[in-house]
Order: sequence, then C-alpha cells, then structure tokens
Amino acid sequence: MAGIDLPTPARALAIAAHPDDVEFQCGATLAKWAAAGCVVDHLILTDGSKGTWNPDDDLDALVATRRDEQRRAAAALGATGEVVMLGRVDGELEADLATRSQVAYWIRARRPDVVLTHDPWRRYRLHPDHRNAGWLGVDGVVAARDPHFFADHDVAHHRPSALLLFEADEPDHVEDVTGFGEAKVAALLEHRSQYVTTMHIDPDDDGTQLEAFRGRVLDGLRRHGAPAGFELGESFKALLDL
Ligand SMILES: [Zn+2]
Repeated sequence: MAGIDLPTPARALAIAAHPDDVEFQCGATLAKWAAAGCVVDHLILTDGSKGTWNPDDDLDALVATRRDEQRRAAAALGATGEVVMLGRVDGELEADLATRSQVAYWIRARRPDVVLTHDPWRRYRLHPDHRNAGWLGVDGVVAARDPHFFADHDVAHHRPSALLLFEADEPDHVEDVTGFGEAKVAALLEHRSQYVTTMHIDPDDDGTQLEAFRGRVLDGLRRHGAPAGFELGESFKALLDL
C-alpha cells in the first residue's frame, strides 16, 4: 500500500448516492475521525426511493424513513456535522451540471479537508447512481476549488487537501480502523428499511442473521486492513494533489 492513515482532518465530507452507502464504504474511517474531533458531514444525492422489493410499498413514506435512518446512522458514527439530502430520484441520478453545481456548493459551504466518494473509474460497475455519484463527487471537487466555476454561489471557493475514493478499482491507501468496527456495524444497523434487501436480515430473524451480517462487515474490514498490517481497515484510492 502506498499510503496509510491521513492525518485526522478537521472536517470531512462523504458524498454518496444512497442512504447507507457512506456507512458501508467508509463508516469506520468516519467514526475514527469523529472520535478524534473531526466534524463529519454527509451529502446523500438520492432519496433512496428504490430501496424496497415490495411493489406495494408507500414510496413517500420510504423516503422519509430513509432520511431519518441516515440521520441516526450518522449519529451512530459520532458525526457532529450535517446530513444533507439532495433528494434526486433513486436510480435516476445524472452527473449533470445542475447537480454538479449543488455538490460543489456543499463542498464550498462545509469546507472539508477530506472528501470521500465513490470511485467513478471502477470497472464493470452496474449501478448507474454509483457511477454518477462518483463523477459528481470528483467533478464537484474540481468546481469547488476554483472561483470561476459556479460563480453564482454565495459561498467562497474551497480546495480540499485529499480525495478518498471508496469501492476503489485500484486501492492504494488504507485507514486503520481497528477499534471502530462496531461503530460501523451499529451505524449500518440504523438503516432498518434495508435489512431485507441489502443486509439479508429477515423481519422474523432470531438474531442469527443479524449476527451473520455483523460478521460479514467485520470480515470485510479485516480483508481491507490486511495489506497494511492492520487488524481492521478501510481501503481507498487516494488523490492527494488537488
Ligand atoms: Zn448505493
């Protein structure tokens, strides 16, 4: 691994397509930084309205539920910043200029030292929201750092010092999250509406499936940590020359 452990940022902003993506991809890193005093913000681009397998579900209610779940998950990470929901329709996220402007606005408004988002260059990724969220995050950083991009914003331009791409095609950086695995699990478990579809925890689970999910999350952290010699880790592609 080329890099391990950035200095704890004063502010971090995680940009993701859906409620729960941040917790899955970088929740333990954010929990570690929050515990050390970093202000952690979430920018969630879609409303999560496709997050059910039940064709009869009330989607307005689901959107409201997922907003509440995302707030509770952020709190479970220890995040003291904002949870901003852009509310684009789940499954229809476009990496267009209007949305890029909004992403750049929130980078300028929250002034993070580190931005974390999906790796848009990851090969063979099926979900269009994850691809487009990656482009919006990367292109949003470029727009945010220069005063002549989106000059209509009422906030000053801002250049983060690091961009960490999660689900990376070629990871080259690991954060040591030993001691923060349970915080990640606790945050993920706040996304109760996703138990069946994403976490494979049935409503009548006696605790066995929940424990299996916890084991899978911790196993993933062990796998990511191993190349750097950490008990638990989260890996990223790090862009440090912004
Ligand atoms: Zn997602």
